[in-house]
Amino acid sequence: MKKLKISIIDLIHNSPSQSLYRRYMFSNYTSIMPQIVGVWCREEGHEVNYSIFTGSQKLNDLLSDKADLVFISSFTFTAQLAYAMSNYFRSRGAVTVLGGPHARSYPGDACQYFDYVLGMTDRDLLKQLLRNFEMNRHEGVYLAASAQPTSIQGVRERWQFIEKVHRHSNFIRVIPMIGSFGCPYQCNFCIDSQVPYQQLDTGMIRDDLSFIMRQIEHPRIGWYDPNFGIKFNLIMDTIESVVPQGAVDFIAECSLSVLSEPNVRRLKKNGFRMIMPGIESWFEYGDKSKTGFANGIDKVRKIADHVNMIQSYIPQVQTNFMFGLDSDCGEEPFELTKRFIDLAPAAYPSFALLSIYGQGVRSNISYETDDRIIPFPFHLMRSVHTLNIVPKHYTWEEFYIHFIDLLQYSFSSRSMYRRFNANEMMVPRWIILLLSLTIGGSGKISSLSSILKNLQREPEFRAFVERKTNRVPRVMIEKVRHDLGPLWEWLPDKSLSYRSDILSNPFPGSKSEKVNHDSRE
Ligand code: SF4
Repeated sequence: MKKLKISIIDLIHNSPSQSLYRRYMFSNYTSIMPQIVGVWCREEGHEVNYSIFTGSQKLNDLLSDKADLVFISSFTFTAQLAYAMSNYFRSRGAVTVLGGPHARSYPGDACQYFDYVLGMTDRDLLKQLLRNFEMNRHEGVYLAASAQPTSIQGVRERWQFIEKVHRHSNFIRVIPMIGSFGCPYQCNFCIDSQVPYQQLDTGMIRDDLSFIMRQIEHPRIGWYDPNFGIKFNLIMDTIESVVPQGAVDFIAECSLSVLSEPNVRRLKKNGFRMIMPGIESWFEYGDKSKTGFANGIDKVRKIADHVNMIQSYIPQVQTNFMFGLDSDCGEEPFELTKRFIDLAPAAYPSFALLSIYGQGVRSNISYETDDRIIPFPFHLMRSVHTLNIVPKHYTWEEFYIHFIDLLQYSFSSRSMYRRFNANEMMVPRWIILLLSLTIGGSGKISSLSSILKNLQREPEFRAFVERKTNRVPRVMIEKVRHDLGPLWEWLPDKSLSYRSDILSNPFPGSKSEKVNHDSRE
């Protein structure tokens, strides 16, 4: 087989940016799967150039690579950048392949702009692609394995890529590890709820931990499990079997249901420095926070006590909330969140808006059937800024007014001062302050305020979010044009409007095919 030149690009952000937080922290947000694809390609004997884009790198550097095959991993909010890049690389004769969350959520739309679009990907599928690929300029081919791979390449194999990422970050370097796929909980907005829970091989995890400790003194490891510690004793036994106490700092996203006091004590003993539990709502998802049927202020009090207990052991706790759910009504969800901030002052609150990403989650179909999805250009679909549905119990304007008010409360000088003082560890308290003063707090407030201003001043913007027209407002087009810079010229016509496949054949196009293990054998 001919030795191929393969370029792998992991898009973490959608525009050039000088933000301090992005510059110092975003290279720690890389995805693991592009690195695994890179290892598989190398093991097949090909030459791989792996790059990331966090907003700080020069786009021209990413485009200079002359490759036979270009893999781009993209979120939905980076999709227009991915489409423009694909168009550019195709003009230079490359075959382009899209992977990542956008490929799973909007395969039909992406097939218009890529030669291949990958759903769940395993090694067999990739081998098949590398051995037999072609240009599919009219309509790309959708390929998907029937399930997540049962084993993946560990840190040792990915190390060259991890080192390359670390060169982009002089401040804090996090090593990405994963111990499980999927999640047993069924949060109806979450793509990981669609993937069966699977614990990965603990032998490989042990080997990776030993390897990392030989490379770096006192490393910092981020667990990429959607929900860390579902098999709590198994993973903690694994860590304790190789990591001496205090030798490694860990970060993990973990449900409150796992975070009993004995478990939290054990996490502290083993160097867990940051935990990110999802609370989501004061009216739903009680199973994963172990609050059962408690709702409203009762749930606020219970969770504040729980979070304060965690924070007495773990220095940094980020609590994740979701707004725009159909159970939200009036000002109560926002006011309850303010009470929580008062009762658990040290926790950093992270807020997301409900975003419906195509066919990423099966229940999305109900929003499409009810005609509630607002067809924002992908570029603007960041769950921190954009509610892309018509809310059930609010006008869009009312909803944004409540949400901005909550953000102003959460990142007021008083709340930030209390948070700063409540956090005893030097590095976390300064990171949280930096985040609050940039994209996490004031940056988010100013961007949401400008959305509200557009809504109030621009009739075409209002008509769009009220579902009276699908015509993308000028102000949104200008935003995409500005952010893409020179790549705007390469953005394919019409790609600001998208093709929704939820109600039709999920994988349209005569050349599309769904591959599973049986059909490939
Ligand atoms: S608990 Fe977290 S990872 Fe699991 S389905 Fe819910 S949001 Fe997703």
